[in-house]
Amino acid sequence: MSVTANSVWKNCLAFIKDNIQPQAFKTWFEPIKPIKLSENALSIQVPSKFFYEWLEEHYVKLLKVALTKELGESAKLVYIIRMENTYGNKEPFTEKIPSSNRGAMAAQEMDVPIKSKNPELRNPFVIPGIRNIKIESQLNPNYNFDNFLEGDSNRLARSAGMAVANKPGGTSFNPLLVFGGVGLGKTHLAHAIGVEIKDKYPERTVLYISAEKFTQQYIESVKKNTRNDFIHFYQLIDVLIIDDVQFLSGKSGTQDVFFHIFNHLHQNGKQVILTSDKAPVDMQDIEQRLLSRFKWGLSAELQSPDYETRISILKNKLYRDGVEIPEDIIEYVAKHIKTNIRELEGAIISLIAQSTLNKREVTIELAQQVVEKFVKNTKREVSIDYIQKVVSDYFEMDVATLQSKTRKRHIVQARQLAMFFAKKFTKASLASIGSQIGKRDHATVLHACKTVDNLAETDKQFRKYIDDLTKKFS
Ligand code: ADP
Ligand code: MG
Repeated sequence: MSVTANSVWKNCLAFIKDNIQPQAFKTWFEPIKPIKLSENALSIQVPSKFFYEWLEEHYVKLLKVALTKELGESAKLVYIIRMENTYGNKEPFTEKIPSSNRGAMAAQEMDVPIKSKNPELRNPFVIPGIRNIKIESQLNPNYNFDNFLEGDSNRLARSAGMAVANKPGGTSFNPLLVFGGVGLGKTHLAHAIGVEIKDKYPERTVLYISAEKFTQQYIESVKKNTRNDFIHFYQLIDVLIIDDVQFLSGKSGTQDVFFHIFNHLHQNGKQVILTSDKAPVDMQDIEQRLLSRFKWGLSAELQSPDYETRISILKNKLYRDGVEIPEDIIEYVAKHIKTNIRELEGAIISLIAQSTLNKREVTIELAQQVVEKFVKNTKREVSIDYIQKVVSDYFEMDVATLQSKTRKRHIVQARQLAMFFAKKFTKASLASIGSQIGKRDHATVLHACKTVDNLAETDKQFRKYIDDLTKKFS
């Protein structure tokens, strides 16, 4: 009998039912729908965020036991949450009233343990020698959840971020690693989590720092012989947010020090939030032990926003800036700028600027000029869609066939070639390539790349496919 999400979940339910009260079973387990089983991860859909939090709080152990029985030690559970309060396109736009800009974040005082070896513990953010440790969270209050619009592309990351903000250090998402390409909202989301935590738990010490600045501080501390102070300082933080950890690659000293800080925080139930432009599997020159820590919690991807989300983001931005421009122009911009939210915002800002400076009406023609500049200025990357199209055409099949589940050899080969070229010509992660090419996982993509490499060496016909296709892409 083949194992499916349904069959696994059915067995889990049988086990769970034997172990809890009938009423609790009815309330908390019957409404769950098994959605997907991939590798050892079972995805279940729960009706709301509250529901998911309740499960995590009360039944996570039971769920783990049940799932381990079915899928073995490496079993994973993934929640799919139906959001109650979405910014999707179902509600009229006028209902999306954002909260007004927040005030600056107050500085947080931190109690330094009296028995600390060095009572003048140095705070790397202030002039050394200051006794009373006051740390600024370095959070930008304008990056909050209210203006981080939800869409399919960010739903998992956003709701995981919310869950972490509700219970810092108290969920299984520790560390929470948010990854995705440039301009897709990693920094915004990282701040939003911090801002939300400060709102809910003002007494907690939250610190946002870029990996780059963290590295500079560390190097400085080595120069000044204050490495221990540096470590000690970071070990006192309750919620540590490090942005762009890919910056640590190749920097073994900083990685080492971060490893110790991380362990200390994690062991003490403190929350760590990380962002990166790559999934952990794709990170290079990061020590294995650190990578394995990154994978302890949850890695959630921010993908390129779909059309509806792009529209919502644009409208929200205009609304907050108090600017009105015609619907068809918003649509035009959203249609033509697809892969980067920063550029999307940039185009609309430049459009408004052009129209006010030159006192021109915002017309489609003006929008075309502005968008064209944006699209031209950003180096055109071959898209995964385009790669799939070219490979399918070359093998005279359609894209749906290339993506299908069939194991027919020539289709499998075409699919593997598409994955190989996507890895070669785009910056997308293995996971993202897999999800775009027929909803496969990162391991499948990795395997495809290896297979293509091997065949290129051993199979002359196959070598020709690669050469032909490479020409088409360059
Ligand atoms: P990254 O750190 O991934 O490069 P940023 O967090 O700097 O991206 O986001 C780029 C811009 O896009 C920011 O101005 C941010 O506010 C905006 N942005 C990203 N995602 C969203 C979203 N879901 N809703 C609204 N604005 C967003
Ligand atoms: Mg960023």
